[in-house]
Amino acid sequence: TAPRLISSEKRGEDADQTLRPQVLDDFVGQAAARANLKVFIEAAKGRGDALDHVLFVGPPGLGKTTLAQIMAREMGVNFRSTSGPVIAKAGDLAALLTNLEDRDVLFIDEIHRLSPAVEEILYPAMEDFQLDLIIGEGPAARSVKIDLARFTLVAATTRLGLITNPLRDRFGIPVRLNFYTVDELELIVRRGARILGMPIGDDGAVEIARRARGTPRIAGRLLRRVRDFASVAGAETVSRKVADDALSRLEVDALGLDQLDRRYLSMIAMNFGGGPVGIETIAAGLSEPRDAIEDIIEPYLIQQGFIMRTPRGRVLTANAWKHLGLEVPRELNQ
Ligand code: ADP
Repeated sequence: TAPRLISSEKRGEDADQTLRPQVLDDFVGQAAARANLKVFIEAAKGRGDALDHVLFVGPPGLGKTTLAQIMAREMGVNFRSTSGPVIAKAGDLAALLTNLEDRDVLFIDEIHRLSPAVEEILYPAMEDFQLDLIIGEGPAARSVKIDLARFTLVAATTRLGLITNPLRDRFGIPVRLNFYTVDELELIVRRGARILGMPIGDDGAVEIARRARGTPRIAGRLLRRVRDFASVAGAETVSRKVADDALSRLEVDALGLDQLDRRYLSMIAMNFGGGPVGIETIAAGLSEPRDAIEDIIEPYLIQQGFIMRTPRGRVLTANAWKHLGLEVPRELNQ
């Protein structure tokens, strides 16, 4: 399928760091997480010790990588970054770990996608800063222990349920990130517009914020696309109308739902009478992987009160029927 414009998944443009906040004070939103991290960072710095291992949990695009980078910068240490699917063998992880210096931050994105063999290596590394490696095979195999620097593992996952209990238990600081409010996103949009040198009206910023699906990555992406439309249309500032025209042409609706979100909702409405319908059936109907639906599409639809997860499957709420412009079934109207 074609990539979603407003998808919160990573793409090449994220390599462009221009919109990424560099210090904790520039990081908008997630007030509770930010306040806690600040305390832990100051305490660790005061003791001259490494920060405890941190696990960020939340949908894509909410700032997990950004916070990990900020933490390394605030600690004044190196930032090394990798991701679960990239680490194929235990040896790959061993190579990364043995290259770390004292108090360095190692960021592992999508940690739920580590293979079990690699995860085994991580346990003693996190707990005792030791590598337990088996060298050779059969009768000649022997185990060697290697001491590691006291490092901080910062890991990210989209859903807590995806990682094993033993791994989860080894993180001293679990941090959940939530969708951003429109007010927070408005600040992010204004900051982005300032960095991109793009005049934007108050109402233009609010319009983009309202349609960013609670997600800074999407806000940044919409901002760039609106900028393209504005410059082609010869608009000097991004007003509400300019933003609305651009976003409507991109098929992002008034609440920020895109074609795929609407396809998800209307399939349940039209083909399954509003549910309940199982996730596998939905995945087959949309020809999208189940993981992508659970990680990217559903969290926002649940947060916005469009669907409910029940033991028998997903069910549309009255709001969803209304948003689709359909008559609300009588049983939901009581
Ligand atoms: P994740 O790792 O959770 O998928 P990222 O940290 O890569 O998300 O953030 C995605 C994009 O959103 C980045 O380009 C960053 O510039 C922007 N971003 C994330 N959080 C914030 C924030 N709180 N304020 C401003 N921009 C943010």
